[in-house]
Formats: sequence, structure tokens, C-alpha cells
Amino acid sequence: MGELELDTLRKVFGEGSKDIVAVDDLDITIEDGEFLVLVGPSGCGKSTTLRCIAGLEQVTSGEILLDGRDVTHAKPKERDMAMVFQNYALYPHMTVRQNLGYGLKITTDLSKAEINERVERIATKLEIPDLLNKKPKELSGGQQQRVALGRAIIREPEVFLMDEPLSNLDAKLRTTMRTEIQQLQQDLGVTTIYVTHDQTEAMTMGDRIAILDGGELQQIGTPLECYHEPVNQFVAGFIGSPSMNFVKVDHDDGSLHHDDFVYTLSPELTETIGNEAKALTMGIRPEHIEIASADAQNGIRASVNVVEPMGELSYVYLDIGGQTYTASVDGDTHLTAGDEVTVVFPEEKVHLFDRKTGDTIM
Ligand code: ATP
Repeated sequence: MGELELDTLRKVFGEGSKDIVAVDDLDITIEDGEFLVLVGPSGCGKSTTLRCIAGLEQVTSGEILLDGRDVTHAKPKERDMAMVFQNYALYPHMTVRQNLGYGLKITTDLSKAEINERVERIATKLEIPDLLNKKPKELSGGQQQRVALGRAIIREPEVFLMDEPLSNLDAKLRTTMRTEIQQLQQDLGVTTIYVTHDQTEAMTMGDRIAILDGGELQQIGTPLECYHEPVNQFVAGFIGSPSMNFVKVDHDDGSLHHDDFVYTLSPELTETIGNEAKALTMGIRPEHIEIASADAQNGIRASVNVVEPMGELSYVYLDIGGQTYTASVDGDTHLTAGDEVTVVFPEEKVHLFDRKTGDTIM
């Protein structure tokens, strides 16, 4: 079992007027065997949250429960959790074999033979048996990361905590290792909390993702829930690549008004958002902008600034009244810089946010 509950978890650094609220009353329950990704921009409190869970930071208030057991103030080694760090944190003077076995040697009473047997088993699982007698400095970044993973796995903890474990690897290796970590996690079925600032990593790896900003939980859900139904403009802009386009519009009586276009809403939608005047932000994802014929309903005139071929897709940077929008279109598009086009933001793909609060209206 490994259900982990964060109950109003709070961590404040500093004293008096210079307080920094790094983690702001976080409530999250991570189910047994779940892969949860904590994601958000730099400084949003991801690492501090993880360090509190690991026991490397004293929490200011709130509780951490592992299978109902209060571990808020337990020592790190009493928590039955293993952490994998960004910089691998391997012991440089020890061989891979010693690095893998060390944790067991100091925290268990397993015999030398038993530890060796486990080391060999883990090394085989991670496909690094040939490296057992090497020192960390003789290994590539990817190999070092495998050893760091092995060191966590060998302890057979209830929870894995991973803090940006792939950020020191090159892009290609990162993609491979993402799949390997997921596979490994599924095989072992161990509850995992994985911290990253990379939304692609979060989207592709997490059973659920928890999006933080300013120490506060913005949304927790499956990657697709967060993509399709963001609760606010922050989540909408953070999840998805390239990012959602935003434009300020004023709603009045069933229409969205902008200096350069008027967007007529369907009666059903008008009913949802009401008739009164409201300052809104309209959001449309690059992959949802359509290039349309000149007479299309709600068509908006745009000029093509740049076309960036990406292979399967091309990114088209459009100018509408001096604001740049990104559209993602087929890779074999005939569009070129300087073209004048009509674009449509299909109503069912449009997001609307309250401009004051940032909350999603639809
Ligand atoms: P990054 O992706 O850059 O690592 P993060 O989301 O992991 O960022 P944290 O490292 O958790 O963010 O930091 C959250 C906030 O707490 C930041 O404002 C940071 O400056 C502050 N902070 C973190 N550790 C300390 C500390 N030991 N003392 C004081 N402030 C700290």
C-alpha cells in the first residue's frame, strides 16, 4: 500500500515581513500505485512540496499521511520513501555496485549475499549489469540516472519521489527515459510523485497532474482533463504546446467585441454566459485555429508573418490587428509569409475566461 495524503500542507520560509509562502495549504491525495506529476513554473513550490514529503524540509503546518499514518514529523529514513534527484547524487568514490547496495547496507540487516542478489536483480532490470564495477564518473548521464533510479528501487519503498530526474539529459535520451520510468513504475506499481517544470513531460507521464502556481494548487486531473477543461487561464496557458492564444474581448449581448473583429456567439452559448456586459479573455489553441474561406461565419482576417515547418505540422504565426497568434496546421501547407487569410476560431473549441479573476467561464 502507498496512499499518500497531503492535508493543508504549508511551508513558509523566512520570518516576519519577508515570508515566502512556498507551499500554500496544499490538499492532494495520491492513490496507491498512482503516478502523479507535480508541474508548474520555476518557483511555484514543486521541489519544496516534494522535500516536505521526503522529510528534508520541516513543514510549517498541515499533515502528511502515508496509508493513514501521520509521517509529518517522521525522520526521512522512517518514511518508507525513496527520492531520485536531478543531479543523481551518487557517491563518486563508490562503484555502481556499492552505490546500489549502500542504502540496504546501512538501513537493513540483510546479509552481504542477500544485498548482492538484490543489486544484481536491479542491475539486470535496468539493463546495467555491465556497469556494476564502474565508478559514476565513468558513466554517461543516462547511465548515472539509471543507477540513481536503481538506488531508489532497490529499497522497495512505498513511495518514489522524483525531482526533475531527467533534466540533465539531452532531449532524445529524455524521451527514452520518460518511457522507461513509466514502464518501470507500472511494473513495480509503486506510488510515484514526479516533479517537473516541463508540461510535455507532465502530459505524457502522469496518470494525473497537479498544476501549481505561487505555491497554490490550480488544478489536479488527468492530462486530458487539464487540457480540455482548464479551470482557469493560468492552467489553459501552461498546458499545451505551443501555448493557447489569448485575446481580450468584451462581451455584450451575445457578441464578443474586439477592435479587429466581432465574434457572434450561438444562442446556446449566450444563454450559458448571460447577456450582461463582461470583460473576458478568449482563448484558442493553435491546433484549433482553422484556415477558412473568405465568407466563413465569424471569419477573421489575418496576415501570415512566418511559417515554421516542423515535419508533420507547421506552425503559422498570424497577425491580427498587431497581435501575433500561433496556428498549428498540416506540415504540407501552402501558406507562405505575406499571405492574407481568413481564420476561424470554432466556437466549440473557444475558451472564455473572466478577465478579472482568470477563472474559466466556458
Ligand atoms: P524550480 O523549478 O525553479 O526548482 P520550484 O517550483 O521547485 O522551482 P521551489 O524550489 O519549491 O520551487 O521554491 C518555491 C519558493 O520558495 C521560491 O520562491 C523559492 O525562492 C523559495 N525557497 C525555496 N527554498 C528556500 C529556502 N531554503 N529558503 C528560502 N526560500 C526558499
